[in-house]
Amino acid sequence: MTVALYTGTWRLAAALLGLFVFGLWEIVKPFRPLVEPRPRHYLKNLFIGAFNSLFLNITVSSFVLAFLYYLEQNRIGLLHWLNLGPAANMAASFLFLDFATYCWHKAYHEVPLMWRLHKVHHSDLDLDVTSASRFHLGEILWSLIFKMGIGLVWGPTVLAMAVHEAGLLLAAQFQHANIGIGEPWETRIKKIIVTPDMHRIHHSDVIRETNSNYSNLFSFWDRLFGTYTPPVNQRGIVIGLKEYPTPQYVTLPKLLLMPFY
Ligand SMILES: [Zn+2]
Repeated sequence: MTVALYTGTWRLAAALLGLFVFGLWEIVKPFRPLVEPRPRHYLKNLFIGAFNSLFLNITVSSFVLAFLYYLEQNRIGLLHWLNLGPAANMAASFLFLDFATYCWHKAYHEVPLMWRLHKVHHSDLDLDVTSASRFHLGEILWSLIFKMGIGLVWGPTVLAMAVHEAGLLLAAQFQHANIGIGEPWETRIKKIIVTPDMHRIHHSDVIRETNSNYSNLFSFWDRLFGTYTPPVNQRGIVIGLKEYPTPQYVTLPKLLLMPFY
C-alpha cells in the first residue's frame, strides 16, 4: 500500500478506470454534441493531466506524502488527539475532506488570484470525461498546500486522504462526462452525489450559474450553504467562459499561459 501511495499507482488506476467506464459511456451514448472534435479535446486535456501527474511525481509528491506520514506517526491533528479508531477516522476524514474541498472550490471562484488558475478548467468549451484532468499545474500545486494544511489541522490518516482523493477523481470524471442519467435516477442520485446535470450548470457561461453548484463529490453542501442552482434547461446551457468563446482562444499554449494575462 505504501509503495502504491508513493508511486501514485493508485491514482493512475482510479484515473484509468474512470476514463474507461465514463469514456465508453459518453462515446456510446453522448448527451450533447461537442464543439471541438473529440480526439483533439481528449488529447489536449489528457496531455495536461498526464503532464501534471508526471511533474508532481518527480518533484513534490514524495515530500507531501512524507509530510502526511510524519503527521500520522506523530499523531498530529484533531482526529488523532480524539483518538478515533481507523474506521471512525476514515468516515470523519472523508466527510470533512469533502466539505473542505467544497469550501476550497468556492474560494477558487471568489478570490481573484485563485480564479486566474481555476478559469483554465472553466474555459473548456465542452464537458467530457477528460475535463476532469484539465487543471492548471498552478492550481494543483496550490491545492497540495491546502491538503497539507488539512492534514496538519484535522489529522486524517494518509489512507483516508488517498481514499477520498480516489473517490474525488472518479466523481469528477463522472460529473464531467458527456452523459445524461435521466429520471427518476437523476433526482435520486443527486440527493447524495453530484451528477453531470448538476455540474454542467457550474460550467455554464452565465456567471450566476458558474458561481453555484460548487460541490465535488457529495452534493448536499450546496443545499446546506445556499449555493445550489436547481435544474435548468440542460440543452440551452452554453459551456465555457464568455471571454474565451471559440477553440482558437483555448489552444494548449494559451491554456498554459492563461493565468498570466
Ligand atoms: Zn469551478
